[in-house]
Amino acid sequence: MLAIDTPVQFIKGIGPRIAESLAEKSISTAEDLLYHLPFRYEDRANPLAVDELAAGEMASVIGEVRGSVLLRTRAMPIFEMTLGQGLSKLKCIWFRGTYLKDRFQAGQTVAVFGKVEASRSSRGFKMIQPQFEILPDSKEEFSSLEMGRITPIYESLGGSKLGSRWIRRQLFSVLAELRGSIPETLPALMLERLGMPSRDASLHQVHFPDIETPLNRLQAASTPAHRRLIFEELFFLELGLEIKRRKARERVGIAFVPDERVRAALREVLPFHPTAAQKRALAEIVEDMKHPSPMRRLLQGDVGSGKTIVALQAMLIAIENGYQAVLMAPTEILATQHYLGARKLLERATRDYRVTLLTGSLDVHHKRAARGRIARGEAGLVIGTHALIEEKVDFERLGLVVVDEQHRFGVMQRFRLMKKPGQGEPDVLVMTATPIPRTLALSLYGDLDLSVLDELPPGRTPIVTRRGSDDRADEVWQFIRKQVVAGRQAYIVYPVIEGPSDDQPELDFPAAEETTPGAAKQGRKTPSLFERPTLKAATSMYEALRDGALAGLRLGLLHGRLSADDKEIVMRRFQRGELDVLVSTTVIEVGVDVPNATVMVIEHAERFGLAQLHQLRGRVGRGGAKSYCILMTGGRVSPEAEQRLDAMVRTQDGFELAELDLELRGPGEFFGTRQAGLPDFRVANLVRDRELLELAKREAAAFVANGGAEATPAERAVVAARLKKAWQRRYGLVEAG
Ligand code: ADP
Ligand code: MG
Repeated sequence: MLAIDTPVQFIKGIGPRIAESLAEKSISTAEDLLYHLPFRYEDRANPLAVDELAAGEMASVIGEVRGSVLLRTRAMPIFEMTLGQGLSKLKCIWFRGTYLKDRFQAGQTVAVFGKVEASRSSRGFKMIQPQFEILPDSKEEFSSLEMGRITPIYESLGGSKLGSRWIRRQLFSVLAELRGSIPETLPALMLERLGMPSRDASLHQVHFPDIETPLNRLQAASTPAHRRLIFEELFFLELGLEIKRRKARERVGIAFVPDERVRAALREVLPFHPTAAQKRALAEIVEDMKHPSPMRRLLQGDVGSGKTIVALQAMLIAIENGYQAVLMAPTEILATQHYLGARKLLERATRDYRVTLLTGSLDVHHKRAARGRIARGEAGLVIGTHALIEEKVDFERLGLVVVDEQHRFGVMQRFRLMKKPGQGEPDVLVMTATPIPRTLALSLYGDLDLSVLDELPPGRTPIVTRRGSDDRADEVWQFIRKQVVAGRQAYIVYPVIEGPSDDQPELDFPAAEETTPGAAKQGRKTPSLFERPTLKAATSMYEALRDGALAGLRLGLLHGRLSADDKEIVMRRFQRGELDVLVSTTVIEVGVDVPNATVMVIEHAERFGLAQLHQLRGRVGRGGAKSYCILMTGGRVSPEAEQRLDAMVRTQDGFELAELDLELRGPGEFFGTRQAGLPDFRVANLVRDRELLELAKREAAAFVANGGAEATPAERAVVAARLKKAWQRRYGLVEAG
């Protein structure tokens, strides 16, 4: 008897061998198979006639194979198949289609799906590289699954053998056997209130929709059946997050006292009037710090919004209360910059704050000395890199941890353990410059409270952003000269350190491979049509510019292969204005702050991702003077890169750019891998399903708050079991200590 948790290998038609292939796709039970949803649908009940087609549209067409031929052109073999409907014909073309040579026979019925294009040769239409399916003749078993209905199309679960057709048949028989017995996971009253169908009905409908279901709603995953399954997935995510949040509130932290003396100390070091957003964020942080449970807060603000000073004020509150505070930076350059910045700021204070820097590259003696000061509690403010957690560092009395988002996972746990017995858990403040849309932030960092700096400090003039082509590079170098003469400084950024043979370690964007929309989701990449030009590299261009176009100016070179000492020396000289121009790779990307720099030239700008471009541009426009960002390109630029560059010229709004980035790359790529904390969803899509995400969040919060009042005891038990399973399997990595 088939049940929802039956292992797939016991399903009729699936043996141990196929089960092994399915396991690679994380499908091990009947239920997993049921959650392998179609990625699109074809209306094979009312297929389009060739005469109804319009160039430029995606369409599915059913016709009869009239003939096929493999053309061996000089460039590549091309396979052509002609599909006929009465007198009308549609030409289907596959480049490098040798593999299709023996695939079609005249008279077969075939469904194709692809973009319709006008064909000059046949004076009709053609499709290039369409997806296709050879349809069974109507007497065949299961033929009704593939024709005369809305047909689900699936991502293959293993080659052409486990393709759409195979999946369809498996699902059809599994669903037939389980009909009416797929257990519900959500309380009946909740479903009724939300107007959502049962799980049983939903799973049937998403795979084999009723013939009258609107095709566009199916494609958009917005039928009631889709919505219910998406809601279900998001509900269990949010429920887990809500419970984590509650638990965190029950832990014992430190109740800091921000009395008048402490506030006076803060005022003393503040070098400018804080923005309204900075005031609001600090007030929220102070409320958390006063509270006896440990703070878990995310401070989100676009580049240049002034997060550092807010964090520094929070750290001073901890120090004034007799605790130590630590700031973790993602790179040595940034840690050093923060260290110097904090020292400079704190010079203004009457009290002597002891600031200690701890990075991996310090020599053994300095490290030991720093660790000693930290352990004895002499270091009030500790600034460092990963070395702080990689090497054992004892804090005497740790009160506040400020971390950059790159360190979020795992790091919080480690810091929690750095408290001594009897001490409260330190507060944690996470800073991020990723302008994640608010609802997404609330879910990705779901167990953190959120403060947003949505305002830039006053006096900033917008950055003039222009595109430039390589053949006009001389004008750009002249412009830099003029700016330097006017007392300003400039950055010139390259994607790689050395020449073409280099392994390009600084480029984190896979520019050589353009991903097509949807391809990211399906986990495959299409090879680029764009050749890889010889890249200009930081080292060689540094030499060329120094001896050529920028001769006479003071140039510096910065990249990831310099020793930490050398990096620091170069960075410091640039900061002090002893260098006019900094030729660099993306090591300067995050956080570097030199207000006198007004020009950012990015060469091979087409090679960088949007987030990177935005970060790089954020290095200028930090002082009062007018700033410029010039995006240089040479040779061919892919359409996707064009979109990125145009967006950069059009807007400086980090949120707008982030949304476009999300659209272009899909959430998986946008947020990085699963390790970056993005849960691995089966049906939900955080970009598409934002509204359902908010609903799920509200419902989850209410469910926890009222103890599941709407549910019967049996339903509550089901919810609890489901929650445990979902979190073990899917969200194991979403942890925030
Ligand atoms: P980010 O949020 O990118 O870390 P920073 O903290 O580095 O931004 O601040 C960017 C620049 O703006 C710094 O030079 C900082 O001194 C300055 N700044 C921050 N807040 C203010 C303010 N309220 N008024 C004027 N300048 C400010
Ligand atoms: Mg910063």
